[in-house]
Amino acid sequence: MWGIDLGGTKIEGVILKSADEPEVLFRDRVPTEADQGYEHSNTVVMNGRPMKQDMEKTLGIALELANDADCFALAEARLGVVKEKFPGARVVFGVIMGTGVGGGIVVDGRVLIGLHGIAGEWGHNFLDESGGPCYCGKTGCVETVISGPALERFYFRETGNKKTLKDIVALAESKVDPTAQRTMIRLVDYFGLALSVVINIVDPDVIVIGGGVGNIDLLYDRGIDSIKKYIFNHGLETPIVKPSLGDSAGVFGAAYLVNTPS
Ligand SMILES: [Zn+2]
Repeated sequence: MWGIDLGGTKIEGVILKSADEPEVLFRDRVPTEADQGYEHSNTVVMNGRPMKQDMEKTLGIALELANDADCFALAEARLGVVKEKFPGARVVFGVIMGTGVGGGIVVDGRVLIGLHGIAGEWGHNFLDESGGPCYCGKTGCVETVISGPALERFYFRETGNKKTLKDIVALAESKVDPTAQRTMIRLVDYFGLALSVVINIVDPDVIVIGGGVGNIDLLYDRGIDSIKKYIFNHGLETPIVKPSLGDSAGVFGAAYLVNTPS
């Protein structure tokens, strides 16, 4: 099984022995040379092009394409934290909360694609007007409120100071900066509201949260309390966990796209 992860800064490839025995036979990473500019490497040039068909024609083999959040969810479901700790889970919602916010749904080991190919795209659900315009053309998407850049933007708007999310989290933890604390309250509150919508509709067996924002420990205690506040049910039993594969999830998930369980 071959998996290829086309990223903004690197392209990574892996060859795995088989789905049941995912021994890495080969693995390599090459930079996209994004610093050489748009024409040289930007993946936006693929938009609207029949890439799947063109590549199948060139390579002479069938291939599957999916976005990073779908691959992340699939890898964590089939190889990562879900397989390790929740082997009975049938429905897994994988979330990437970082520069952007994305999601993928895996049911019985397969990615749910959807009619338009947008199943799991909770990052562009409407969340709150205060997020402002989104690159997708809408306003107030989940991504405009709880992504890393959105939280940094909120802090800047309130204080006039530019700080990284890492610094904001540290300031909030040391309780010396009320605006940093408010930024974290904003994250926790809207995280709960945004995920409650997903749980009300999909009610997954496990939720795995990846990405830089997903590392913030607050999400796993106060964030869970916030989900409880908004979901339809009285209690919340859904395990909400961190991933276990690190940045390998993309490329491993890609390899598993071509192996669907029987
Ligand atoms: Zn959007």
